Amino acid sequence: TSQSIAVQHLLEAAAERWPDSPSVSYEGLRFNWKQTRDRCQRVAWGLASRGVEPGDRVAYLGFNSHWCFELFFASPMAGAIFVPVNFRLSVGEMIACVTDAEPTVLVVDQHHLAQAAAITQACPWLKTVIYAGRQEEPWDMVSYERLLGEASPVETAPSGNDDTLVLFYTGGTTGRSKGVMLTHINQFTNALGGLGWYRMRERETHLQASPMFHTAAGSRVFTATMTGTHSVILSKFDVPGVMEAVAKERISTMQIVPTMLQMMLDHPDFSSEKFASLRLITYGASPMPVALLEQALEVLPGVSFAQSYGMTEASPVVTVLDSEDHSLSSEHIQRLESVGRPVFHNQVRIVDGRRRSVPRGSVGEIVVKGSNVMKGYWRAPDLTRDVLQDGWYYTGDSGYLDDAGYLFMAGRIKDMIVSGGENVYPIEIENILSRHPNIKECAVVGVPHNKWGESVHAVVRLLKPGSITEKEVIEYCRQRIAHYKCPTSVTFMEDAFPVSTINKVLKAELRKKIINDGR
Ligand code: ATP
Ligand code: MG
Repeated sequence: TSQSIAVQHLLEAAAERWPDSPSVSYEGLRFNWKQTRDRCQRVAWGLASRGVEPGDRVAYLGFNSHWCFELFFASPMAGAIFVPVNFRLSVGEMIACVTDAEPTVLVVDQHHLAQAAAITQACPWLKTVIYAGRQEEPWDMVSYERLLGEASPVETAPSGNDDTLVLFYTGGTTGRSKGVMLTHINQFTNALGGLGWYRMRERETHLQASPMFHTAAGSRVFTATMTGTHSVILSKFDVPGVMEAVAKERISTMQIVPTMLQMMLDHPDFSSEKFASLRLITYGASPMPVALLEQALEVLPGVSFAQSYGMTEASPVVTVLDSEDHSLSSEHIQRLESVGRPVFHNQVRIVDGRRRSVPRGSVGEIVVKGSNVMKGYWRAPDLTRDVLQDGWYYTGDSGYLDDAGYLFMAGRIKDMIVSGGENVYPIEIENILSRHPNIKECAVVGVPHNKWGESVHAVVRLLKPGSITEKEVIEYCRQRIAHYKCPTSVTFMEDAFPVSTINKVLKAELRKKIINDGR
C-alpha cells in the first residue's frame, strides 16, 4: 500500500523475519507468524468479498481468542475499523454499543450466540454475522474458518496513517462509555514506545489474560507483533488458568490490573515457584494500593514490575514507573506511590481550572500531548471538543509532577472532595489506609456536610470483621496526614465494592449508597 505507517506492515515484517516462530496460541492451537499473516490476509479478502468497504466497522463479540487477535489486522487490511465489544456488558448495553458503532459485520464466538441473536434483531443494518468457533456453525451464520479457507485474492484498500484503525470503548467508570477512534499512527506510536519503556525483548512469551476489548490488552497485540512475541491467549482471567499457563508455556511477561494481582496473591495455591519463568509484570488501569505492591515485590523477588498510567484516549500509555523505580529501599519507597514519568512520545502538563499551567509540585488536571492521542470520540464532536484543544488531551485526572518529573495521580477530578474550601484527594488517604494491617480494601469518598460542604468518608473492608473501630481508623490517619484530610466517618463494608466491567471501583455508586444508607 502507499500508506507509510500501517500496523499490517508489522505483521508482514514479523512473517518475513520470524516465519516459523510462534505468534499466537489459544486452547491447544498454535500458529506461527507466517500462518497468522496468511490467515489475516485471507480474512481481509473474505471481508472484502462480502462487501466490506473502507471505513466500515467490523465488530467482534467474544472472549479473548486468536480470532480477536487476527481481526485487529484483518480489519485494517480490508480498510475497515475494528470494534472489539466488551463481553461483560449486559445484552442491552451490547446493543447500545453496536448501535453506536454501527458495524456491517459482527464476528461472534460460541459463547455469545444468544447475545448475537438479540443484537441482530435490534440492529437491522448488520449485514453479516460470522461465527468464530471450532464447532459446526449455526445455520444462519457464515463460518470464520470457512470464509478464510475459501477466500481468494481480491482488491482491498487497506487503511493506514491517520485512518481510524480501531474503536475502543472507554471503561464507563465516570458515566457512559465512549467510542475512541485510534489511528494507525496512534497505535504505532504506543507500540514503539512499549519497546523502550518495558525493555521488550524479541520473541518472548506473553500471557494475554486481560480482556482484549480494552485498550491495555488490545493494544498489546501491536507491541507483540513488533517484537515477534508469542502471545498465549486465555479466553478469560482466572487464577488457576494463569498459573497453569505460566508453568506450561514458560511465560515471561504478563499484563494485569491491581485486582488481578490481589486475586493471585490471595489464592490458596499461589507460590512464587509457579511464577519462576516470569521476568516482567506490567500493571495499570486503576490505582495500585501501595501495600499490595509492597507485598508483591516481596513474594515475587525475581519479577520486575512496571506500572503504566494511561487511558483509552492515549492508546493508552502516558507514563511508566520503571522496574528500577520499584525498589523497597527507603529512599525509593515514596516513588511506589507515583505512576512514573512520561514516555518519550508524550508531553505532560498540569493545569488549573482555567487551563493555565501550574507550578511544579502543584496539583491540577493532567493534560497530555503526543502522536498517541486519539483522533476523537466516535460520532461525538461536542465531547471531543471538550477534551481536545490544540492537540492537548484533558484527561479529567488530577495529579502533580515532582522535581524529578515523576507524576503522582491524585485521582479523578470528579472524585475530588472539597471540604471547608480545601481540596482533598482520595488517593492520598487510600494510600495511607491500605497500609493498615487489618484493612483489606478501602475507598474514600465525599459526603454532603452542612457546615463543610463535603466531609471525608472512608469505606473500609477489613481482613477480619470487627478488628478495628471507626475511631481507630480516624486516629490512624490523624497520626499521618493533615487533619482536614482525615476521614470524619467510616463505613465498614462486608460486601465487595461496586466495580465496573473491568474491575474499577465505581465511586459515584459507592457514594450514592453511603448517602442513601444515611451515613
Ligand atoms: P470512562 O472514561 O468511561 O469514565 P475510564 O476512564 O475508567 O472510563 P479507561 O480509559 O479504561 O476508562 O481508563 C483510564 C483511566 O483509568 C484514567 O483516566 C485514570 O483515571 C485511570 N488509571 C489508568 N491507569 C492508572 C494508574 N496506573 N493508576 C491510577 N489510575 C489509573
Ligand atoms: Mg476516562
